[in-house]
Amino acid sequence: MVRAMKYGVQFVLLCLVFMVIASAQSAGGNAAPTPAVTDQHATSAPFDVNAAVDAYLAKMPPSERARSNAYFEGGYWLLLWDFLSTVVVMWLLLKFRWSMRMRDLAERLTRFRPLQTALYWVQFITVVSVLTFPLTVYEGYFREHKYGLLNQIFGPWFRDQFVMLAVNAVLGGVLLVLLFGLVRRLGNNWWVWGATATIFFLALVILIAPVYIFPLFNKYTKLQDSRIKDPILSMARANGIPATDVYEFDASRQSDRVSANVSGFAGTLRISLNDNLLNRCTLPEIETTMGHEMGHYVLNHANKSLVMFGVVVVIGFAFLNWFIKMGLARWGELWGIRGMTDVAVLPLAVMGLSVYFFLMTPVTNTISRTMEFEADMYGLNSARQPDGEANVDLLLGEYRKMDPGPVEEFILFDHPSGRTRITAAMRWKAEHPDTASPEELARPLFDTH
Ligand SMILES: [Zn+2]
Repeated sequence: MVRAMKYGVQFVLLCLVFMVIASAQSAGGNAAPTPAVTDQHATSAPFDVNAAVDAYLAKMPPSERARSNAYFEGGYWLLLWDFLSTVVVMWLLLKFRWSMRMRDLAERLTRFRPLQTALYWVQFITVVSVLTFPLTVYEGYFREHKYGLLNQIFGPWFRDQFVMLAVNAVLGGVLLVLLFGLVRRLGNNWWVWGATATIFFLALVILIAPVYIFPLFNKYTKLQDSRIKDPILSMARANGIPATDVYEFDASRQSDRVSANVSGFAGTLRISLNDNLLNRCTLPEIETTMGHEMGHYVLNHANKSLVMFGVVVVIGFAFLNWFIKMGLARWGELWGIRGMTDVAVLPLAVMGLSVYFFLMTPVTNTISRTMEFEADMYGLNSARQPDGEANVDLLLGEYRKMDPGPVEEFILFDHPSGRTRITAAMRWKAEHPDTASPEELARPLFDTH
């Protein structure tokens, strides 16, 4: 076990070193002063990027910034508590042979193996949800209320949790039946095909989610207001996105967070924006947000992230194969697990994957953050609203720390920080002075109370 941790840590350290070098190089590029541009704009009115960034950051009152920092930094600890609670719960299931008993019950109910796997999964996910419920309710309900980030009272919140559990029970059940089928058929080589199957399964979920899963939590309606709809559809046409409608969804049910997305393809393609974005933002702010989302679509981020996360998953499954074998060799009999093909091994597998993905946090965050930055650049170039962009970045600062240290941002941020994003916007504005918007710069975003 100690050796396992050491190898895992070594591997992640290697990744870290590699990525810190990469980020240092790009950070160096970021921090460099804007080169003296010799076009007609730059010579007449020099634009101080750093001063412009500071002016935007100063729009957020110190009390608001302190609240946002406390919320986001608390999230770092939750990452640790979530990981530890998963490991402890999995250990309980093994140590007290609950996992073995759940398998025995599933075997008594049916002789059909895939159905045994599914029945085990339903018991497993129910027990785990109950055991981790105190942490879930603190994290998702009380803490969100404490920071003013949740609009739901307990009833509707609990309903959403329950629906999510049902979705996980169905999707997880399908995946698990598939994976244990592969383990039983392929033996030691299961992990290569297991990882491949998992990646294809994830792709399928991403494809169907906008149409079949998201509507379980929010109501989607066609946006009627042509003052918003027409410019968005015009941008979509200009960027080669074949959409004919824009959808609005009632995210204010859950929170005041602004958000939008472009999802699916062919028959399921849709541009959606949430009602908070519509109610809280100006047209330039909506346009720059949609430009960002269209960037994800045009730059093909869904498929690229499947390939990149796919590599992480393949390595993870190789680690998992080794982790399970090691665990079973030592404690398998004690836990009443017959071997790799026995579904009762699941808690050990979940424990292994938790260790792996906890250690891989900087890697997965960097994959995501890099693509988010690309989408930001795409949004700036397509919407041409650097001041609108800076305002949206400030609004996102309600729940994401605005100004972290570089190492903190590298390890813990799955999106660029507010400062990084506003810096990018102001650097873009410096080269396109004609796009400057004094109205956006002057617009107050936070009530000062
Ligand atoms: Zn994004």
